[in-house]
Amino acid sequence: MENNKKKIAIYIGRFAPLHNGHIEVINYCNNNYDETIVLIGSKNKRRTIKNPFPIDLISNWILNSAKNTIVRSINDYLYSDNKWIAQVEDLIYSIYNKNECEFTIVGHEKDSSSFYLKIFPTWRIDLVPEFANGINATDIRETIFSGKIFGMDLLDFLSKNTNNFVSLDILKFMETKDFEDLLEEKKYFENEEKKFKDYPYKDTLKFNCSDAVVVCDGNILLIQRDRAPGKNIWALPGGFVTKNETYEQCAIRELFEETSLKVPEKVIKGSLKRSKIFDNPNRNIGIPRITNAFYFEIQPDYKNGFPKLPKIKGADDARNAKWVSLAEVRHMILFDDHSDIIDYFVNSI
Ligand code: NAD
Repeated sequence: MENNKKKIAIYIGRFAPLHNGHIEVINYCNNNYDETIVLIGSKNKRRTIKNPFPIDLISNWILNSAKNTIVRSINDYLYSDNKWIAQVEDLIYSIYNKNECEFTIVGHEKDSSSFYLKIFPTWRIDLVPEFANGINATDIRETIFSGKIFGMDLLDFLSKNTNNFVSLDILKFMETKDFEDLLEEKKYFENEEKKFKDYPYKDTLKFNCSDAVVVCDGNILLIQRDRAPGKNIWALPGGFVTKNETYEQCAIRELFEETSLKVPEKVIKGSLKRSKIFDNPNRNIGIPRITNAFYFEIQPDYKNGFPKLPKIKGADDARNAKWVSLAEVRHMILFDDHSDIIDYFVNSI
């Protein structure tokens, strides 16, 4: 039986970049539903070779391609699909009246990464076929970053696969310092790949890392990375575990090396509250890194009865170090999954 609820299509993606396949899906939504809302994912993730374009740019591409569409952006929560679902539902129900609308997730089920199309049990699902000869964003990014075609040839390739204004924006983006930094990062990962190309057990290859989460009276200690990957991005102090140390020793060593924290090592060791392994295979680009993160709660120094955050100074692999309030850190775009790590220790009881 037909219901008279407003039919809302919800289309989620990264659109990196927006291409003819995406545009056809949006047109399909606009032709078959009363309203279409497009959600751009990964808002809280730093720009990488897999996710190179700023959210505002992507949002403009979508709005200019389909004028009547509503566009919003959402965060990723690598370790909690439930939190991600709640965020999507919160956003949708802040725009539409839950009782007056019928919601449908629209998308193409391309592989296991499309699992999210089927995790909203109270909404309908509309799986669409592959449009525009199966064009996909990965191929477009690889062409952009390979440097194999450029100038008019590149413009020609892009124009066949996306709107003209998207093509021109991509060419403009390729002139920026951000793009140069991403190319440097791409080289870093290619070199890493080369170094391990003869490793016999490729499927089991993972690197061991440790990170230090140091909190003092509502402030957290961060460093700014000095080189690729993630050059200039703020991160937790941390690094690779060497063969003669434990994860905990590594976290403490990296903490002192990168921040010159003016607190005795004994005090740091005594301030350890908890630790947890973070191992989502998508937490970084390149060979997967597992990190064991250690959470320390330290006390401020007292000068004339007033609290002062312990002194720090960026050194070694860190260009800078700073104390950031826990309120501010929530709005920062950090390296890899460091926002998830901080959230885990600071917000879970
Ligand atoms: P995408 O831009 O690759 O694809 C978007 C949609 O378009 C998909 O349904 C895809 O299958 C479809 N599509 C692509 N090419 C097409 C073509 N030629 N014809 C027809 N359809 C085509 O984006 P994505 O990677 O699927 O984006 C999902 C977003 O949701 C990401 O940001 C991801 O991080 C996020 N997510 C987050 C969580 C979490 O944080 N827990 C969980 C699930 C999803």
